[in-house]
Amino acid sequence: MISGFRASRILTLDPSLSHKENPLGAIEHGCVAFESGRITFVGNIVDYKESRHFPLVPLVTPGLIDAHTHACWVGSRHDEYAIRMAGGDYRDIAARGGGIIASSRAIASATEADIGHTLRARLLRMAALGVTTCEVKSGYGLLPELELKQLRAIANAAADRSLPSIVSTFLALHSIPAGYSRTSYIATVLAETLPAAVGLAQFVDAYVDENAFTIDEARLVASAARANGLGVRLHVGQFADVGGAELAAELGALSADHLEHVLGRGIEALAAAGTAACLLPVASFTLGQSPPPVAALRAARVPLVVASDANPGTAPTESLPLALALAVRLYGLTPEEALIGATRNAASSLGLSDRGMLQIGMRADIVAWDLAHEHALIQPWGTPRTRAVVVEGNAIVNIV
Ligand SMILES: [Zn+2]
Repeated sequence: MISGFRASRILTLDPSLSHKENPLGAIEHGCVAFESGRITFVGNIVDYKESRHFPLVPLVTPGLIDAHTHACWVGSRHDEYAIRMAGGDYRDIAARGGGIIASSRAIASATEADIGHTLRARLLRMAALGVTTCEVKSGYGLLPELELKQLRAIANAAADRSLPSIVSTFLALHSIPAGYSRTSYIATVLAETLPAAVGLAQFVDAYVDENAFTIDEARLVASAARANGLGVRLHVGQFADVGGAELAAELGALSADHLEHVLGRGIEALAAAGTAACLLPVASFTLGQSPPPVAALRAARVPLVVASDANPGTAPTESLPLALALAVRLYGLTPEEALIGATRNAASSLGLSDRGMLQIGMRADIVAWDLAHEHALIQPWGTPRTRAVVVEGNAIVNIV
């Protein structure tokens, strides 16, 4: 039974230990101990005598937090990638029966148990890559009974202590299913899906973009969700700035996600509201898009989060470390910004104050890595390099 690690290098991410020369609060020859799911010691190895029983590993960090995923999908949309690479866009893909509608069909034909089984297996693979908390959205059901089937499968997985912790998001507005007008679909979401989703999800989300949902439609649904106690996070500006960042700020959203297209006024609104920018570089890599305006977001002091966007269409990956590598390679984040964006800032963007750093009293969400330094973590390895992954004191991946 592991109850601590010794490490050549421990990243605490603790702001009280961080300074210009040590931005991630690193401790050399460190030790972290935990008991009953909480961290009881973090510091130098010589200050914790019992540490000689702990495994010795090269690098320890807080568990990674993937703050934006569509991980609850079933089926495969591999055929779309070839269409995309041949120059096709989402309209060509939709014309051949692909896209969100294909995922929706797959959810319709799967049982709730099948969906849960697929999600569990995926989350375990994500855990092997260092993820200890994962946000998971619905949004492939579209119809009320199918959205709720997805949300129940997510809730079941959330109760499983052998998986990463789950934050569940009701993606209320993703696409309009066949047989509905815009107006009748919004009315159905408000009258049927949202009331039933309230007990199953912690957040609501909507796709605010050209060819998606409008500011007014998203405001209507997100306001109703907020009045029912759900937090707000929004997909904004993936293809065009239609004012989504301002709406996220207006609604007190914890994060505005994508932002490949956001103008100065949107960035100012996010900064004033304290809304995080959740960056999704795997999607812009897949779509061949230009990066978001990272320098302007940084200058405005908008907190930066990096997430995988794991989904079967535009971000066909389960790897948060790959997203970190691309955030550095394609978006120009520093390695330190990327790591903060997948730990401390990711926790804040999910409203979680008990994780994202190694500090006494925090949840024992800890990763031991077979890597010598955190800069190796932002290289595109493509293979799991964890030696142990601990969630609330339980080792869910243990190859120490
Ligand atoms: Zn997304």
